Amino acid sequence: MSQKKAVLFIADGLGGRPSDYNGKTCLEAADTPNLDRLADRGINGMLNPLGPGVRPGSDTAHLSLFGYDPEEVYSGRGIFEASGIGMKVQKNDVCFRTNFSTVDKEMEVKDRRAGRIQEGQEKLKEALQDGLELNRYKDLEIIFETSTQHRGALILRGSKLSDKITGTDPHKTDVKVKKCKAVNGSKNVKRTAKIVNKITDRAHELLKDLDVNKDREERGKPPANALLLRGASTPPDIEPFQEKYGLEGVGIAAGALYLGVAKQIGLETRKPEGATGDLDSKIINKAKAAVKELEDGKDFAFIHVKGTDNAAHDHDAEAKKRVIEKIDRAVGYLIDKLDWKNTHLIFSGDHTTPIVYGDHTAEPIPILYRGREVRKDWVDRIGERSSVKGDLGFVNGQEVLPILFNYNNWLEKYGS
Ligand code: ZN
Ligand code: ZN
Repeated sequence: MSQKKAVLFIADGLGGRPSDYNGKTCLEAADTPNLDRLADRGINGMLNPLGPGVRPGSDTAHLSLFGYDPEEVYSGRGIFEASGIGMKVQKNDVCFRTNFSTVDKEMEVKDRRAGRIQEGQEKLKEALQDGLELNRYKDLEIIFETSTQHRGALILRGSKLSDKITGTDPHKTDVKVKKCKAVNGSKNVKRTAKIVNKITDRAHELLKDLDVNKDREERGKPPANALLLRGASTPPDIEPFQEKYGLEGVGIAAGALYLGVAKQIGLETRKPEGATGDLDSKIINKAKAAVKELEDGKDFAFIHVKGTDNAAHDHDAEAKKRVIEKIDRAVGYLIDKLDWKNTHLIFSGDHTTPIVYGDHTAEPIPILYRGREVRKDWVDRIGERSSVKGDLGFVNGQEVLPILFNYNNWLEKYGS
């Protein structure tokens, strides 16, 4: 345990475009006195999470921010979702993220999220858990777990399985559920694709006549009568954070993906009370948890907020601005409570999510470092057009933590 502390605060999809908000980005339009104070007293720059011109996924961007090369360790999102919702994942498990969805008799997708189903998921889960054993595959175990709304994860456990297969989610409506395909001709790959297609058919059989769904149909809601699978992946072979950096770290988040990434790199994880991973999240409780964990002996705390990205995916500029202002209040708490004699902090995002486009784009995002060894620059507020004038310049994802840890004198010297 070190006296020194490090904090990485990531607002998902923080970055924006001038089309967000009358010529300003949401971050520029938001009222952010506390973030501006950090920018004023810190050093500022712009972050390319995966390098210039690469559109980041949240999972790959976070791996990069933690100092890992996604090219080496990333095989798909399923493993992080499964792990993030608390499933005990074993080596060689093939993991998927799943959606309850609505299909018609021809297996044409009518609603990819089954109307963002809010209740009855436990019954759906029971039906799947009891009925999914596919008798022909003796050594195969199928494990299913629900998460929030339509979301869930599924694990295939057994021998002769592979994650080199495509997903079944067509990502649009009025087209059929996709057939899972083998990416190459190997026997195990083909076998796994066959199993996934069987699961898809069987899940529809098991779900379509359940009371939960009859109820939904009577009330004019789309039934959750199909299961879409995507992001097939096995646990990555990853050097644990603790060994890589020699630090005890904790990840504080609510979104399954982020808890999952944190777990897979070996961080302890916390989901504070009231933290939802959505617009209504009690972000302040994440700041409180971080302060407590650092006081209790952790060297490093990662704080993740998801609402910024969700609002942008929903094309809702006002909501994104509101989440940024809520983040600012949590940052105010950190300014008050962190031991600034010993702490260095980063505030940034994992990618840009513009309001009009509603999905991730490749523009760099503001990043700032604050702490007593940080040489302050002339930037006095956070924002896409102000932060770029800072002395930090442009940094890449994998450089982010080493730059932070350098301020704490935690780095090994290169050479003598
Ligand atoms: Zn993201
Ligand atoms: Zn996103």
